[in-house]
Amino acid sequence: MTWFDAPEWDDAVEALRGASSVSLACHINPDGDALGSLLAASLGLKQLGKSVYPSWGATSVEVPYSFSFLPGADLLVRAADVPAEAAFLALDCGAGHRLGSLEERARAAPCLINVDHHPGNDNFGTLNIVVTTVSSTAEIVTRLLQDLGVTIDKEIATCLYVGIVTDTGRFQYANSTPDTLRLAADLLSFGVDAPQIAQEVYESSPFGFLKLTGRVLDRAVLHERERFVYSWISRKDLKETGVAPDETDALIDLVRSTRAADVAAMFKEQSDGSWRVSMRSKGRSVGALARSRGGGGHELAAGFTAPDRETTAAGLVAELAAAGDGS
Ligand code: 5GP
Ligand code: MN
Repeated sequence: MTWFDAPEWDDAVEALRGASSVSLACHINPDGDALGSLLAASLGLKQLGKSVYPSWGATSVEVPYSFSFLPGADLLVRAADVPAEAAFLALDCGAGHRLGSLEERARAAPCLINVDHHPGNDNFGTLNIVVTTVSSTAEIVTRLLQDLGVTIDKEIATCLYVGIVTDTGRFQYANSTPDTLRLAADLLSFGVDAPQIAQEVYESSPFGFLKLTGRVLDRAVLHERERFVYSWISRKDLKETGVAPDETDALIDLVRSTRAADVAAMFKEQSDGSWRVSMRSKGRSVGALARSRGGGGHELAAGFTAPDRETTAAGLVAELAAAGDGS
């Protein structure tokens, strides 16, 4: 059966069914959907008797603290240990380069299956299952595992549920459709502990996160006319507050919460001095802003990397001003 109008669905199911070992990777700096999809797919394929090698293309595959409770994390292997000769399943990667150091190996695999939900995905796979109408890659992985005959159990359902909860912003964004909620409800029926997950994911920050939040909110800049708000996190902030870089994702949601702005950005200084920029919108598209700066994402949530904070912020302000209200 073909799900979601993905023409290569049956071929992808067939390829996975025939593979005795599968390499799997999500995007670098993985979020809840990337990790949930990666671990659910790994647990499911393992249940079918396949050898699985889940990872992502970074020097260390340490799961961020707030996702460390996820079942299946014990299956993770170092990127260097991901075999190139196995079938390769890429998850939640909007572009090939999101595989980081594993991109080359993925492209060399006999079969590269690209499972993703980002608009503008560059179809880097030999088989591409790109469904932009679903909330999360986890939604697609759920159907994929079901078609493969995997028995969804509590562990797999937990990973999938985490992917859906995080990518829908706890079911509050426009991507949370009736189908999404029905699927989440089905997953709960496997015994998923939703309140426990909410605590692990959203209430497990270190104390220093409160101090960091204070800094970030205090220095937020509002461009009233452009209805644009932004703030930043420097490496010094992280060092002084003791917060890990992967524990800062929630801050953009606080900055965007003002009614004075429709577009929000968070600049995060990287170890090489460049800035990762996360953008969020309440309506007008930010996908194009990110894509034209070498990044990507969705229309209302996108990101890119820039060499300089102040010039980039000024550029965004100018572009938002030029686009006016109609963009
Ligand atoms: P975040 O701000 O949470 O890092 O990213 C928001 C959305 O944009 C996510 O769907 C993420 O996958 C996507 N995204 C962020 N940065 C990039 C990038 O550099 N390239 C691409 N293609 N997508 C990105
Ligand atoms: Mn996703």
